[in-house]
Amino acid sequence: MDGYKKIVEIIVPASHGKAVKVAAGDRLEVIDLEGKQVGDLMAWVSGSEEEYFSPAHTLTQNWSVALRVGSVLATNKRRILFRVLEDDVGIHDILVPCCDHEAYVTRYGIHDHRSCLENIKESLSELGEACVARAEMAVNLFMNNRIESDGKIVYEAPEHGPGSRILLSCELDALVALSACPQDQTPTNGWECTAMMLRVWRPE
Ligand SMILES: [Zn+2]
Repeated sequence: MDGYKKIVEIIVPASHGKAVKVAAGDRLEVIDLEGKQVGDLMAWVSGSEEEYFSPAHTLTQNWSVALRVGSVLATNKRRILFRVLEDDVGIHDILVPCCDHEAYVTRYGIHDHRSCLENIKESLSELGEACVARAEMAVNLFMNNRIESDGKIVYEAPEHGPGSRILLSCELDALVALSACPQDQTPTNGWECTAMMLRVWRPE
């Protein structure tokens, strides 16, 4: 990436989470190493417990439920947190909350399943950051949800291949957490949960 040097490259193990800090001007790259994997990404503006990534505000800032190259990801204060610069997949979800412990208990009767919400809380703890309230507000990268004409949401298996990536420009200093979604009870991750990668690029 001309003019940028890679300052972070970390594997997000299958069904686990990792968090990184980014600065305004950085570029954040999320890579699906093996394909058909969804990554739930949350972000909080540095130094603020009151401002964080908001799918609802993102929807109104773009006037679309879809994210495309050129779309913005906005905070709950309507500030631009990220812009989509490059995107191999073009299919993401900003409508459904990330999976959590309660989802596996109430839908499937599974009491010991990992979840994106726990993954993200673990990843924040690794960085010494407190678990953040409102931590259910994720963008579900590469998630292939179809909305039917009656409004029904259907989870379908992603079709993207190994190495698929999205590149975001970072517009504010932020704490970012990514969960390689552990959902194996629906086609969300193609029935096999695999690892992802996070890279941060900084201007030289
Ligand atoms: Zn999940």
